[in-house]
Amino acid sequence: MKTILVAGGAGYIGSHMVALLVEKGYDVVVVDNLCTGHWQAVKGAKLRVGDLRDGNFLDQVFSEFPIDGVINFAAYSLVGESVTNPLKYYGNNVAGSQSMLTAMKNHGVKKIVFSSTAATYGEPEKQPIEETDRTEPTNPYGATKLAIEGMLKWCDRAYGIKYAALRYFNAAGANTEVGIGEDHNPESHLIPIVLQAALGKRDHVGIFGDDYPTPDGTCVRDYIHVRDLASAHLLALEYLDKGGESGSFNLGNGTGYSVKEIIDTARKVTGKAIPATVEPRRAGDPSVLIASNKKAQEVLGWKPERGLEQIISDAWTWHSSHPDGYGK
Ligand code: UDP
Repeated sequence: MKTILVAGGAGYIGSHMVALLVEKGYDVVVVDNLCTGHWQAVKGAKLRVGDLRDGNFLDQVFSEFPIDGVINFAAYSLVGESVTNPLKYYGNNVAGSQSMLTAMKNHGVKKIVFSSTAATYGEPEKQPIEETDRTEPTNPYGATKLAIEGMLKWCDRAYGIKYAALRYFNAAGANTEVGIGEDHNPESHLIPIVLQAALGKRDHVGIFGDDYPTPDGTCVRDYIHVRDLASAHLLALEYLDKGGESGSFNLGNGTGYSVKEIIDTARKVTGKAIPATVEPRRAGDPSVLIASNKKAQEVLGWKPERGLEQIISDAWTWHSSHPDGYGK
């Protein structure tokens, strides 16, 4: 494996993947429509701007480069928006992956690592969540990712395309060496919002509910460093290259932190007061989501290396040096 195609490589997690592949000496080709991605985040790779749903565009890219494997991050990912506009999500996420698999089939590329999500589980039946647990998404975003996992399974059987679907829990952090980080507009994720409040870009953080059945009443999530996520993708690609069986894998640290614990840790890391106010619950938020990462550890040999303080401290380095993201 020498040349890797990263779809959505200009996005948050995709750009961290590109940085790792470049560091490891791979030739990296990025396809991205730059609808939410940032060309400035693509460092050391070739960028071809276009939409996955455009089969001719993909055919050109697969003809231009000797692609050995694909990592697909390209998707819309706003849970709330997916509820109000499900067709936008099916139309982009599912159709984009379908088009990518078609190009892979036509060009004889047999390995794909796919960016899936803990949202495939919906309301969990137990903690920590295992890959064999019930998958019943409670929003269209999770439903599109689960639909794509189904499509991957059938494409494996029919065309021998091997896949690893990686179900991320809460991605956060940044790569302070390469100088890339999170820049969503609008921002909806907790850690960047907390750090924007630390920078004075927001007057406070809203805590979405403090009456959940958790120790301090706020929601508990499993935060995983984006660089640890990238390492898992590379291990998954190597695993498939060695003939590993297709499957789905949880990617999380296996430890949960509440919204209040995140804000407290951010206060400690930044030395800023970070005002916070309790607000009503956000619709559709499960109270606790914690990954069992046993399968990824055992099968892929993955071990996350960075804990919460490092996640927040790297994110703080990024946000404080790029208060307007890639914009300025
Ligand atoms: N959250 C919050 N205030 C915010 C943003 C998020 O209290 O301004 C909470 C949210 O309700 C959830 C947790 O923080 O319990 C993580 O939310 P995020 O959107 O970062 O990720 P999700 O778990 O929804 O994928």
